[in-house]
Amino acid sequence: MNRNDYIELDDKDTLREYRDKFVTNEDTIYMDGNSLGPLPRSAVERLEKAVKIEWGRDLIQSWNTNSWIDLPTIIGEKIAPLVGAAPGQVICSDSISINLFKLLSAAIKINGNRTTILSQTDNFPTDLYMAEGLSSLLGENSCRLKLVESNEIETALDSDVSILMLTEVNFRTGERHDMKALTELAHEKGALVLWDLAHSAGAFPVALDACNVDFAVGCGYKYLNGGPVAPAFLYVATRHQDKFQQPLCGWMGHASPFDFRNRYEAAEGILQGLCGTPPILSMVALDAALDIFEALDLEAVKQKSIALSETFRRLVDSHELSGLSLLSPLDPECRGSQLAYRHPYAFPLCQALIKEGVIVDFRSPDIIRFGFTPLYMRYIDIFTAVQKLAMVINTEVYMDEEFQVKQKVT
Ligand SMILES: *Cc1c(COP(=O)(O)O)cnc(C)c1O
Repeated sequence: MNRNDYIELDDKDTLREYRDKFVTNEDTIYMDGNSLGPLPRSAVERLEKAVKIEWGRDLIQSWNTNSWIDLPTIIGEKIAPLVGAAPGQVICSDSISINLFKLLSAAIKINGNRTTILSQTDNFPTDLYMAEGLSSLLGENSCRLKLVESNEIETALDSDVSILMLTEVNFRTGERHDMKALTELAHEKGALVLWDLAHSAGAFPVALDACNVDFAVGCGYKYLNGGPVAPAFLYVATRHQDKFQQPLCGWMGHASPFDFRNRYEAAEGILQGLCGTPPILSMVALDAALDIFEALDLEAVKQKSIALSETFRRLVDSHELSGLSLLSPLDPECRGSQLAYRHPYAFPLCQALIKEGVIVDFRSPDIIRFGFTPLYMRYIDIFTAVQKLAMVINTEVYMDEEFQVKQKVT
């Protein structure tokens, strides 16, 4: 295949008009939408209105007249169909870390005398840190974190496991768990399940209700493109909402916050997942970004992601690049919307690629991640990105001094 063949694939792409919905830069190929989605044009307009009219002119009235107070619910209901949740179970709030704390605390209380939170050694660090924090707050006798390798989960599900906490798509390797099978297995062993959808929501269809999931959290700024300001979301299955009691019981989760009572009474349903005042400008941006998903078929997004990543993988293979080896699963059904490769000089290699206009990221110690985001990524981008990758590796330009400097965020 040559350059023109890729352009032809783009012409035939049924998702091609979505690219115009984003602010894109023709000089760069953005392969980091799995870390921070690009700016949707709808968000620019909506933010401008929110700042100039809602904040600038309407001020405090906006809580009612511009529905600020309902944004966590409005956004939650927009996210719900993307993760396979019926209404009344998803709300937008805080960060994943904070939401994990709320859900883990509530779940461990619901599930009798069991004390173990079971998770995976290479789960995303914040998930583990938050569980550790809860364990040290409640004491090891009431709550302890147990970590096992991915292939040991089944045998580790003993009679003390209260919650199985997993991230569906591994942030390093891109490996994707079988949500349905693991949820079923955990339930058989009497455990509840909490899924982190940071690398799932907006990337492919998720079926929380159909898989009988108990709790979930997810991210607003990755595949949902809510921007560097986007809050996260949480899901509590309807069947748990009566017994659900979370300790960060701020006034926004109160049954009637504007009665200003001195005792906490949780709101009904998913609203009790809220804590403090919602960050309105951040929510407005995410709300506008979600409009892009309104009529979108996530199965089509998934299929294009597979086509893009398989094209990338085969092109990389055909170049036989020295030192580069695939870390992600070969089977596209067993991975999320990213490919991870190892390389002994992964960090400077990333920097050299970024200088060439291919934006990727490095994950310690030796991993380069390539994210595939079908809403704005084209087949021609894949072709160009692999050409640049081959050039950078074959010339060893990454050995240059300028690519060795590490900054705070990698
Ligand atoms: C990005 C990411 C997070 C981010 O957590 P925040 O508290 O929202 O910053 C959490 N978990 C996973 C798996 C992630 O990939």
